[in-house]
Amino acid sequence: MHEFSISSEIVRTVLNAAEKNKGEKVLSIQLEIGELALLNVEQVTFWIHELFKGSVAEGAKVRVKTIKARIQCESCGYKGGISPDLEDPFQHLIPYSCPQCGSFQIKVEKGRECTVRRIQAVKE
Ligand SMILES: [Zn+2]
Repeated sequence: MHEFSISSEIVRTVLNAAEKNKGEKVLSIQLEIGELALLNVEQVTFWIHELFKGSVAEGAKVRVKTIKARIQCESCGYKGGISPDLEDPFQHLIPYSCPQCGSFQIKVEKGRECTVRRIQAVKE
């Protein structure tokens, strides 16, 4: 239920923001989800829609932008993307390695985030 807890957090963030602008109805939200966040985007949007029900954000569109991963290798200095095997259900059990030298001494600079980028709302 990783997706569920992430979704609840997103929903809380959106509703808190909407609360500050009373009387507004949320039309759409845009999320940024890193390709290494290991989230099933379909499930995340499903739960957000469910949790929005009965709130000012009910029926809001959920757009998701995938953020490409970027790593830095501490062994060879490689900087750039990696290609996680997103089809592999056990991918999360394997540490990511440098595509250039295979080292596991890497720092993930980008690609694990899951953030609310934009909230579009209108006065009712
Ligand atoms: Zn390397």
